[in-house]
Amino acid sequence: MDSGSFIKRRYRIRRRIQTVVELVYPPRCMGCGVLTEADFGLCGACWRDTPFIGGAVCESCGVPVPGATDGFRIECDDCLTSPRPWSDGRAALMYQGKARSLVLALKHGDRPELARPAAGWMARAGRDLVKSNMLIAPVPLHWTRLIKRRYNQSALLAQHLGREVGLECCPDLLIRNRRTPVLDGKTARERDETLMGAIDVHPRRSERLRGRDVLLIDDVMTSGATLSACARACLASGANHIFVLVLARVAKDA
Ligand SMILES: [Zn+2]
Ligand SMILES: [Zn+2]
Repeated sequence: MDSGSFIKRRYRIRRRIQTVVELVYPPRCMGCGVLTEADFGLCGACWRDTPFIGGAVCESCGVPVPGATDGFRIECDDCLTSPRPWSDGRAALMYQGKARSLVLALKHGDRPELARPAAGWMARAGRDLVKSNMLIAPVPLHWTRLIKRRYNQSALLAQHLGREVGLECCPDLLIRNRRTPVLDGKTARERDETLMGAIDVHPRRSERLRGRDVLLIDDVMTSGATLSACARACLASGANHIFVLVLARVAKDA
């Protein structure tokens, strides 16, 4: 058998296996579980209820801003008041409605399969940030949390995104030295103090980021304090520019 017909045969077998899988596990909507035409998608109703970010956004944090893009850099009030330690940031969704339940399902609901389609949405939202030779790295979880949740949702997003855009992903570029309490309800200053020295570049990974642009990945961005701590750690270890891409952005008044 020549190699061409061998590949064709393998392809046919794979197609058959796929058909069997589809018969046993028909594609379902990621949001509500109804049967859909394609895998890893949303049904019409869930698609309408998922707040995808489009139009003019803050270049620093990705939050939608009123008005239209006019060629000048747009920043929201928050980013103008306290500039971010990274260059540009984007988000795929607003952390509301169906998007919020998808993020929570990925984080606490033991549904790692959501990471692949979510990374596809992030690739679209972050298309202006992606550059060749960029290193993709997730916001780290403390190992005690990792044991409890079985996986780091941000690392899963980062790995799928790396495959999607063809960039190197380093899941353990950053490490958490200690457990930090939940940041909700703290002031900006308290958040920074809580995170001081909590996140570092892995001592054996620092060579990989020297002089390189880094794309930091997280599932949700609220104040951005954790991403700031990660960006500062990367810069201190010799990274070039830092960019930020998250699945969902919490609106200030949400
Ligand atoms: Zn649905
Ligand atoms: Zn902003």
